[in-house]
Amino acid sequence: MKVTLLGTGTSSGVPMIACDCPTCTSDDPRDNRTRCSALIETIDRDGQHRAILIDAGPDLHFQAIRHHLWRCDAILLTHNHVDHIFGLDETRRFNVAQGAPIDVYADQHTIDSVKRIFQHIFEPHLSVNHSFVASLVPHVITETDSLDLFGIRITPIPLMHGKLPIFGFRIEDTNPDSYAGPIAYCTDVSHIPPKSSPLLADLDVLILDALRPHPHPTHLTLDDAIDEAQRIAARQTYFIHMAHSIKHADVDPTLPPGINLAYDTLTLGDTLKLDGTHITRREAVNDDPAS
Ligand SMILES: [Zn+2]
Ligand SMILES: [Zn+2]
Ligand SMILES: [Zn+2]
Repeated sequence: MKVTLLGTGTSSGVPMIACDCPTCTSDDPRDNRTRCSALIETIDRDGQHRAILIDAGPDLHFQAIRHHLWRCDAILLTHNHVDHIFGLDETRRFNVAQGAPIDVYADQHTIDSVKRIFQHIFEPHLSVNHSFVASLVPHVITETDSLDLFGIRITPIPLMHGKLPIFGFRIEDTNPDSYAGPIAYCTDVSHIPPKSSPLLADLDVLILDALRPHPHPTHLTLDDAIDEAQRIAARQTYFIHMAHSIKHADVDPTLPPGINLAYDTLTLGDTLKLDGTHITRREAVNDDPAS
């Protein structure tokens, strides 16, 4: 299993449109943050490469091109906000490349939003013209569900994003000879309910929202996130969903041991078994189910 952070920025992205602050004009690539999304890759029991996305934001097209991503077998959605779902249209190219629909897993509220916003995908008979749309199969999951996707166990983690209940995800490789410890992906969170604590125990890596230094009604501040990270005590914590008020080179060295700022393209491969490249054109061609 390999996990790559495709995007680590807040909803407006960094640099922001129409801002010339030191972070938005920085030439440090770690200060270029596309909207939050993560890629989980594995090789299933039949030797097939598999790719699972967490969220599909407005930068999915750019992220897929940057990582030479040729397939997407499933999408886990954390919640229904624009910066996490407005790239769903882009998945239609994966449908073509892999010749299969894509399973989408989310809570009822998010699935309802996705069906409404992407009516052209889910009710194509209402469109005036027939057009090229994604083929997505929605699945409602609840906090008591645990999915097995290609040997990866995915367990929803109930989180509060302001007043909105959303999901983080605990990700565990069930391959018996995997070196990878559990990873938790918790974006867009302002409060972690006590009932979620067991799902944040014994983590190898915690990926956690840390929006900015000053308060926000629906996100952890940097200090909040440090407190939560130290309470949860994963072997390593990375912060995501960061705004332009966090300049990587200024803030990262100030963090406690075992806590760092993430950056786009960061791959959690050091501790994980599957090394090497992403799913490339060559591998995708070799993976043709017809061959
Ligand atoms: Zn967000
Ligand atoms: Zn700025
Ligand atoms: Zn949000």
